[in-house]
This record gives sequence, C-alpha cells and structure tokens, in this order.
Amino acid sequence: MAGVEERVDPSQVSTVGGIDSEGQIIVENPATGREIGRVPEMSADEVVELARKARAAQPGWNALGFEGRARVLNRAQKWVIDNRDRIIETIVSETGKTYEDALIAEINYATSAFGFWAKNAPKFLGDERIKTSSPFVLGRKLVVRYQPLGLVGVIGPWNYPLTNSFGDCIPALAAGNAVILKPSEVTPLTSLLMAEGLRACGLPENVYQVATGRGETAQALIDQVDMVMFTGSTATGKKVMQRAAETLTPVSLELGGKDPMIVLSDADLERAANAAVYYSMQNGGQTCISVERVYVEEPVYDQFVAKVTEKARALRQGVPTGYGAIDIGAVTSPAQVDIIDSHVRDAESKGAKILVGGHKHGTGGANFYEPTVMVDVDHSMLAMTEETFGPTLPIMKVRDAEEAITLANDSPYGLSGSVWTKDVARGEAVARRVQSGAVDVNDAMLNYSALELPMGGWKASGLGTRHGAAGIRKYCAQQAILVTRFAPKRDVHMFPYKKSTGKLIGGMLKLIYGRGKRD
Ligand code: NAD
Repeated sequence: MAGVEERVDPSQVSTVGGIDSEGQIIVENPATGREIGRVPEMSADEVVELARKARAAQPGWNALGFEGRARVLNRAQKWVIDNRDRIIETIVSETGKTYEDALIAEINYATSAFGFWAKNAPKFLGDERIKTSSPFVLGRKLVVRYQPLGLVGVIGPWNYPLTNSFGDCIPALAAGNAVILKPSEVTPLTSLLMAEGLRACGLPENVYQVATGRGETAQALIDQVDMVMFTGSTATGKKVMQRAAETLTPVSLELGGKDPMIVLSDADLERAANAAVYYSMQNGGQTCISVERVYVEEPVYDQFVAKVTEKARALRQGVPTGYGAIDIGAVTSPAQVDIIDSHVRDAESKGAKILVGGHKHGTGGANFYEPTVMVDVDHSMLAMTEETFGPTLPIMKVRDAEEAITLANDSPYGLSGSVWTKDVARGEAVARRVQSGAVDVNDAMLNYSALELPMGGWKASGLGTRHGAAGIRKYCAQQAILVTRFAPKRDVHMFPYKKSTGKLIGGMLKLIYGRGKRD
C-alpha cells in the first residue's frame, strides 16, 4: 500500500479508472491520480460466504459479554493511536485530504468511539426494570432486554473512510454482532487496514469482515444481513431501503445535507467568518454536516463577506505532503468534481458573483476544486438547494432572522445547521426553529464529537440516528419479559366469563380511570 506521493508524474499516472481486466477495483490517490492499490469486486456468492462465516463466528463473540468485548475495543483504541501514522497515510492517500483532517476528524473520532462504546454498551444495553400503571399487570416483574441482531451490514461513503464507514461498525460490534463492512469502492483501503488492527487486538476471526465492491456488492450484502447501517447519498439511501424492504430488514440511513449557517447582526463576525470558511471547506467541504449555505443579516453582510473573502483567498490547496503543508486537499471522488462545478456554473449563469475560486483543476487524474466563495445567490440555484459537497461557500443577504429561518427550512434536507449571535438565548430560540437533526449556536459540526448526543437527519437527510443510546440499540432486538411469581389459580379476567366478571372489571376501570382529572 503506497503512501502519499509528493508530485504528479504524468508518466506514472494510471489511465485505467474503476475496474481492471481481471475485475479488480483500481484505487487511486485523487491528489496525484496515481494507483495505490487494487481490491476485488466481490460477487453475490462471495458475500453469501462472508455472511456464513460471520454467522458462525458471532455467537462466540457475543458470549464474551460486555467485559470481554470491551477488552478488545479498548485494545483497538490504543492500536489506532500506536498506528496512527500508518492509518493517516492510508486515509490521506485514498482520499487526498490533509493530514490534519485525517487526524482531527478520523483518528480522533475512532479512538474516542472505541472508548465510548466499550464503556457505555452495558449502560445502554443492560436489562431495564420497568414499572407499570396497568392494574392487570401489577406485581409482575417487567424487563426490557436487548440482544444483538446477529449480523450487521455497514455500507459506507468515501468522505470519511474511518469515521463514517468503519465508525458505525464499533457500536454494532460492542453490542455483540458480527459485522460486514462494504466500504466505498473509492476508499476501501482503510477498512482493510482496520481488519488487520482488530485481528491484532484479539477480535475473533470473521467477526469483522470487509466486502469490497461497488453497488451490486452492497445490494447483495443487504440480502444477507439482519440490519443495514447505510451512510451515503439520499439517492442511494432510497435504493438501500427498497432492497431491504424485500426481506423486511431494518435500515438506519445517514444521508446528505445542505446545512444552513445563520449569521445574526450581533454575531462575533471574526469568529463567524473563521468558522464559515473552516466548516465549509475543512475536508475539502466533503462532510455531510459541513456549512453548505450562509444567510447573513443585512447590517453586517458586507463586513462578513469581506472577512470571508480575505480568509478564503489565503487558503493553500495542493497535494497533502505532511502536517502544515496545505489547508485543503483534493476532491476524493472524480464524479464529485463535476457535481461541484455544475453547481457553480449553474449559479454563475443565474447571476451569482464568484469572489474567490470557481474552477476545477488538477492534471494526470488528480481532482481538485478551488476554494470558492459566491454572493448574489438565491434559491433558484442548485448551489443553495442541492448538496454541493465541495469547498464552496455561497453567501446570501437576508432582511432579518425570520427570513433566514424561512430560507434555512426551504430545503428537502435537514441534517444539521448553525446560528451565530452574541445573544445565546435568542440563538437557541432560532436554533429550535431550524428543521434539522442538530443545530449548534456559535459553533458548527461540534455536536458530532459528543457521542452522547444523537446524530441523525430529518426529512431527506435520513432515518434513525447514530450515537447516544439509540445509536447502539438499533443494532439489537428488544425483548419484553414479564414474570409472574405469585398468582391465584385463576385470574378474574380468565374463562369462564361470568356476570360478576364484567361487573368487577367495569367497576375497577371506573374507579381507576373514571374520576376525571382535576383541572
Ligand atoms: P453514495 O451514495 O454514492 O455511496 C455510498 C455507498 O453506497 C458506497 O459504498 C457505494 O458503493 C454504495 N452503493 C452504490 N450504489 C448502491 C446501491 N444501488 N445499493 C446499495 N449501495 C450502493 O455516497 P458517496 O458519494 O460515497 O458519499 C457521499 C454522500 O454521503 C454525501 O451525500 C454525504 O452527505 C453522505 N454522507 C452522509 C453522512 C451522514 O452522517 N449523514 C456522513 C457522510 C457522508
């Protein structure tokens, strides 16, 4: 597995894209265009075989209990830290992102997630004793228990191979499941490296496996598993749900977003401008919860735009060669460069003004898009309504907070968003009116790092959540247990029905429910 190359050498650039003559997927470094590896495109039969092995291994893994599994996950946390340079090299080479993005948003997340789920799985999945107000059930022992579903299929995107692809395997494993991960065909190498890491940490054979391939491999995986955790685009999410419907397999979908940033006139403009540039262009803008559009109140609009423009112009873009070398790397997926450009060209043709950037570049198979700032934008433009997923920042002037809220909610998506103001009470009030799964006040994206908070999209941004209690319970079947220890030979509601049965039960219901609540 090659690391990151420093320069593009056109003679060494792979001219083959996608699949080679032997059916292998060619993996390229998007910052250089060079081939860095090949992985098999697995057939449906191969996926069936993976699933067979996973199902054979799962009971042993589950039998280790929370403590036994936590030992492996805690070792994995340390393994990631000990091997971080190697993991970062792999992530950087297959995504073209900066070393800092790999460290802050991937290594940081994975290490924190291993520890969080190792520690909290027993709390979220331990037996819950329940009290009831039903008169028929009084005196019984009531318990909710969680048991692993068995085999979980995780299908991931290319923007965060460790965080968003592998990251969802961690709670599924902590719950006692076996997992098969189908990483993006664009970035499969990190998932394979993690298989090596988990083996080294004592994870039993076949409890975590990687099914490399494209859409067809993913579809085959859906047929084999007990639950599908999908992260990717809204369009593919619909196909996942459709296929899963055939076997009534539950799905959790983390999909696209078009996150609004609302800047009120009393905001700390310097912080807001720094954040706007960072959270729209960090990871090359390829983050589901990145700032995708900005609404600024009229009185501070000019000042905000001037600050953002100056900061965006200062960004350094290029091939990532080490810490501190550049601010923005490549666009990971070649197809994404064209989507970004089509949004910018569409906006330009409808009257938007491009203040910074606005063009794709890169030679010999390298994919880059310039950090781009646009103004004079409106909701007739794709750049304001559809997910761009690149280093672009369209800024729109609004009359007031009301108009900003209306425009923020004028979207099919509802993943995340942010509000900027020195009046935090007002900021929170505005945040509560934004229709999305998460909203930060005077911050953006940061909620994702608090694994205690649920993270999931409203509207076309998804179904279900990751993180928090629901983020691990979704990998389990819930079972309700009722135990009756002391009881008469015959309860009053049992056969034979007598005249006195109706009288007794009717009287009891009247006594309990018939008095009416006092106003
Ligand atoms: P994508 O939908 O193109 O692909 C995602 C995965 O689905 C890949 O592994 C791909 O091989 C697989 N796939 C392709 N066709 C399939 C099919 N017919 N059935 C099943 N699986 C299929 O997404 P992408 O371009 O890799 O990733 C970018 C998208 O992911 C963006 O929309 C981004 O917002 C989203 N995303 C969302 C979150 C979140 O938490 N909400 C996080 C990261 C990325």
